[in-house]
Amino acid sequence: MEAANEFPETLQSAMEYFADESNAFAFMRQVRWPDGVAACPRCQSSEVSFISTRKVWECKYCKVGKQFSIKVGTIFEDSPIRLGKWWCAIWLISNAKNGISSCEIGRALGVTQKTAWFMLQRIRLALQSGSIMKLRGTIEADETFVGGKAVNMHKRERAEKIKGRGASGKAVVMGVLSRATRKNASKVHAMVVKNTDRESLLAEIEKRVAKGSAIYTDAHHAYGGLDEAIYTHEAVDHAIEYVRGKVHTNGLENFWCLLKRALKGTYVSVNAEHLFRYLDEQSFRFNERKLNDAGRFLKAVAGIIGRRLTYLALTSNGQCLQT
Ligand SMILES: [Zn+2]
Repeated sequence: MEAANEFPETLQSAMEYFADESNAFAFMRQVRWPDGVAACPRCQSSEVSFISTRKVWECKYCKVGKQFSIKVGTIFEDSPIRLGKWWCAIWLISNAKNGISSCEIGRALGVTQKTAWFMLQRIRLALQSGSIMKLRGTIEADETFVGGKAVNMHKRERAEKIKGRGASGKAVVMGVLSRATRKNASKVHAMVVKNTDRESLLAEIEKRVAKGSAIYTDAHHAYGGLDEAIYTHEAVDHAIEYVRGKVHTNGLENFWCLLKRALKGTYVSVNAEHLFRYLDEQSFRFNERKLNDAGRFLKAVAGIIGRRLTYLALTSNGQCLQT
């Protein structure tokens, strides 16, 4: 992406840079149309004329809905929030190690907490990994409990006290992590699963881990069902030891630790229905941790196009808007 010379590198310079809406708009044009040619989102025609007073384009061919704004076809579609605020929100969330609450975003940008909450949920959609590439190599697989009282409980206690997803609002989160190689940093995929049964866990592994990989887990019986024709599997029994040579799940334990710090400290009451969005957010920051702030911001920005999340879709069940 071609950015202006003075493209910001720190939070403060980003806030200043994008406070100028013409910078924010110029940046959006680069993101939207990297080749500099505006195109109609309906018919893809580039025979469009720009109406500078209203900052909209008009398509020569489309009869209905011939005018379009630069936000159409992105997570910003239909949002009255100005672009500069969106860019700052994306900068904040992609670089906040422990996450950032809608209250903080609201204060930083001068919008209401409710507006900030909605912005954050849309941004989390942009942070969702678009990759369908399976993880390969040496893989750790593990699951943990989030929400309810389980969040404060040590894994050893939890394993004894909680089996599957109870009625008290605990969710099961499953993760797979590919260990670092000389070329690549470790990478995680985390998702909400129905329960800790063999069926739920193995389905995710098969979906996300390439054939021929070596999988390390704890002694949870579900992993005993891993297909030996597809993977090699070794387990470490946490009742006896946590590490046996290369066989351990410390990479994922570290990720769970970061996740829970964010959930407990910043997102005090995450609704189970929205939990996957927070997993996407935490996974994004973890997977892109080798980039600097501006790099992580640009990576996040790449996800805004072709995605949409409406207020109605987010709040159809009257979900809590607190975090
Ligand atoms: Zn058109």
